[in-house]
Formats: sequence, structure tokens, C-alpha cells
Amino acid sequence: MAMRLSRSIVGTAEADAVARVIVEDGYLGMGSEVQRFEEDVAAFLGVPPASVAAVNTGTAALTLAVDAAAPGAFGQGVRGSVLVPSLTFVASFQAITAAGCRPIACEVLPDTGTIDLEDAAKRIQKDTFAIMPVFYASNPWGLDEVCAFAKEHGLRVIEDAAHAFGCLHDGKKIGSFGDLVCFSFDGIKNITCGEGGLVVAFNEQDARTIQDARLLSVSKDTQARFHGGRTWDPSVTRQGWRFHMSNIMAAIGRVQLSRFEQEFAPARKHLAALYREELAGVEQMQFLRTDARDDIVPHIQVVRVTNGRMPEVRQSLLDAGIPVGVHYKPNHLLAYFGDAQAAPLPVTEQLFAQLMTLPLHPGLSDQDVKDVCAALRTALQA
Ligand SMILES: *Cc1c(COP(=O)(O)O)cnc(C)c1O
Repeated sequence: MAMRLSRSIVGTAEADAVARVIVEDGYLGMGSEVQRFEEDVAAFLGVPPASVAAVNTGTAALTLAVDAAAPGAFGQGVRGSVLVPSLTFVASFQAITAAGCRPIACEVLPDTGTIDLEDAAKRIQKDTFAIMPVFYASNPWGLDEVCAFAKEHGLRVIEDAAHAFGCLHDGKKIGSFGDLVCFSFDGIKNITCGEGGLVVAFNEQDARTIQDARLLSVSKDTQARFHGGRTWDPSVTRQGWRFHMSNIMAAIGRVQLSRFEQEFAPARKHLAALYREELAGVEQMQFLRTDARDDIVPHIQVVRVTNGRMPEVRQSLLDAGIPVGVHYKPNHLLAYFGDAQAAPLPVTEQLFAQLMTLPLHPGLSDQDVKDVCAALRTALQA
């Protein structure tokens, strides 16, 4: 089978869990299986189940988190602005606008790919209410500084932790502390529900708002559904969305979570370490800086091609049958978010011209990684 850049690692255990929901339960929407998934994730993170809300995508998680943190009501003009690195999946930006807010594209630090706070400080506006750090390539680098920055400027912190499920920061799991933390469980993330996402909210009011907002803001509908009930006299006082998770997705997610510590995390760490080993001392390329490598469960394997010839190197890998990705085209270069560009972002654009993503997923063998590294060495020497 041809090598893949990334893929879901799912099998009969996930299929059996889905079959159980379909055949034995027969209730496919949001019900007790979602409740159990939330309990499992909460136990994994060490937070109360009431502080988590499982949703249908990571983008939905981010949208609900921004909505809960934003001032004012949805649909009555722009509610405020959010500092966000331009170098992220377009989902981060779309989530901000989906919640009625405005993204402010910020620079990243070229050695880590995480938000540059000195640059962000210059871009703060009167209506800025939050900062959204993105743990690029699973690296929570600078999170303490982000939190101190937020405190200093009176901002909420909405973590885009889509890459960082299972990662540690200072010995604590991402999602076990903070303000609002958002995960993605789409097909290729550290664990998957097929599609899926989850918000952890450390403020009780936010947690309640988000649990309702994912179900069209029908007040306390979550509790009714978890017990197979219905809300007979619904109360709706604000905008909501149809963002809940289904029992089918939750069944997949529960199996994936049970495989994470023993299987997925060590496999991803091992392959990333092997890349470092195989490419140690190779010139014209660099890895991103990750200080506490063992704390990171890498979602993607990014390298910087520093000889100014990334497009040729990428083409040479593609010609050798090696799939290569790009994470990401900076959002300020996308037409819809072009006016998120208060000032140019030269560091981000320079970094983008160097970035290349190599294959990484637990289905790769050591030999696969060695083949990729050999092809990369050849491409760099050409
Ligand atoms: C995957 C991802 C998201 C969105 O998650 P989906 O589940 O795909 O909606 C958001 N931000 C980043 C950085 C991501 O990689």
C-alpha cells in the first residue's frame, strides 16, 4: 500500500463499538454513549465531567469557546476581536468569524511556529477580548507566557489544542488546566471519533453555556438526552448551534482513547524521535524547536527546508512516492481573511516558504521513516 501522510488507525474494536450502538442501543444521536465518552475524557484529563462538552468537530469546539468568551450577543454586529497566529488551519479563523468575532492575524516565532507575543502586543485593539494560541505541531511552547500576557491585557485564553491531545506542559496534561481548551478528534488527529471535538471550560458559566449552545441553546437539553429524555418545555434565550456529538462518534472515540496511552502515543513519539535520529546533522534543513520532546505526542512531523529550495525538495519527495503536506497556508493570505492583516507578517511568510510536513501516523514502520529520510537527504543534496 502506498505511504500516507496521515491516516486514522481504526479496526475491529472501533467497528464492534459502533455495531453495539447500532444493533444493541439503536439510538444514534446524542445519548448515553456521548455521556460516557465525556466521562472517559474528563477522567483522562483529570477534570470534572461537567466541564467538558463533546461536539461534532474541532471547529465547532472552537466556535463554541469563542462564542462563550465573546462579549455581547451573536448577530448584532462584530462582538470583538481575537489574537490568533496566522499560521494555523483555517478552522481557527473560521471559528472566530462563525462566532461573530474578528480574527487578528499575528506572527509566529520561526523556531517554534507558536504565536509571537511581542508582535501580538502591537496588534491588540480596543475590542480585543481573547488570544487563541495554537499548539502548532503539538508544541505547547510558551503557554505560560501566553497566560501571563492574557492576564496583563485582560484577555481570555482559548487554546486551539487540536494538535495537542495527550501532550503535557510542565508535567500537566493540556486540557487539565487553563481557561477554554479545544480539541479536535477528526480522522487524522491523535485520537479520532471519525469527526469530533471537545471543549474543556474551566468556568462553570461557560461550561453550561457551551453544553446548551451545542444543542441549539435549548436550556439543559444535554442532561435530558443523557438520560434518554426530552425537554418538553424548552427555554431558548440565545443563539445556538447543532454541534453535538453522536453516540456513533462517541463509541469510536471511547475505543480510541483506550488505545491512546499504550499504542498511539508511544508510536507517534517513537517515529518522531526516529526522524530526529535519521536526519541528525543533515544540512539545509531544521526541525522546529521542541524543548520537552517527551511531553509531546506529535500530530504532524514538520521540517524547515532552509536552503531556499523547498518547492524543489518537495517535488523531489513527491516524485519518489513520498507524500508531503503543508501546514499551513497563512490565513492572512486567504482572500476571506485578507483584512485580518493589519500589518504585513514577513516572519510567517518566510517560514511558510520553508515548511514541509513529512508522513507521520502510527501505521508507519521504522523502515518507512528511514525511506522518507533517505529521500529527503537525496533531495537536499541534488
Ligand atoms: C484539525 C484542526 C482544527 C479543527 O478541527 P476539525 O475537527 O477538523 O474541525 C482546528 N485547528 C487546528 C490547528 C487543527 O489542526
